[in-house]
Amino acid sequence: MVLRSPSAADGGLLAVFLGLHPGEDGERTAYLGVVEAPTDGDRDAGWQTLRAAGALLPDLDASLAATLLALANWHRSHERCSRCGAPSEPTSAGWVRRCTRDGSQHFPRTDPSVIMSVIDDDGRLLLGRGVTWPANQFSVLAGFVEPGESLEAAVAREVLEESGVVVTEVSYLGSQPWPFPSSLMLGFTARAVTTELTHDPTEMAEVRWVTRAEYAALLRSGRSGCRAASRSPGESSNGGSVPILRWRRGTRSSRAGARRPRRAEP
Ligand SMILES: [Zn+2]
Repeated sequence: MVLRSPSAADGGLLAVFLGLHPGEDGERTAYLGVVEAPTDGDRDAGWQTLRAAGALLPDLDASLAATLLALANWHRSHERCSRCGAPSEPTSAGWVRRCTRDGSQHFPRTDPSVIMSVIDDDGRLLLGRGVTWPANQFSVLAGFVEPGESLEAAVAREVLEESGVVVTEVSYLGSQPWPFPSSLMLGFTARAVTTELTHDPTEMAEVRWVTRAEYAALLRSGRSGCRAASRSPGESSNGGSVPILRWRRGTRSSRAGARRPRRAEP
């Protein structure tokens, strides 16, 4: 993402209105996102994905980038009407697509995902490593919410599927945009009722319990580059880091959960 003034060449590109933001002088600046195709030259110039760079951005830039990425992902994958298959075109400043044949309107979707700190009665935190992740990169567990289940049920199901641990007292901590490609990440904490670990080797390479001291050592050694330990797109109160920050400070809270079937992680 590059912040710049509009140019005449933008007329032929997909553009979306991202909002108005007041400056220090009280004047509001309008932000529009213009989607350009990446080139190999961009990669050579040290570009990074938002997922990698999000933690380093100021709140305004992170919010602009998250909104633009989510909308760009949606436009790219919804070029045709889901009712009749005719091409659709952007309208309402990029926040709606309208079918060119039947006129139906289609809106951007946001998929809820959950991420959770699971803590046992000895104060240990549950971490896992997905099969496709680099060696020694761990995170708290996460997954998509399935149709027909509550957020609390999604937390309990994902933990059971990925680690074999049964949880209770599921409680909400915070949220953040997660446009990879179109999620809202909701952070929770939960208390482990069981501690025995059994994981599905097709999804998780490893799951383990860590004490606060072991977690701090992992961070110091640079071996836990977990996505959940980083501050990424959107707000400072985010779903990803809140569960771990609360656990490191030694706080925890309550509510109930249930269980269901499956899907890959976000
Ligand atoms: Zn249509």
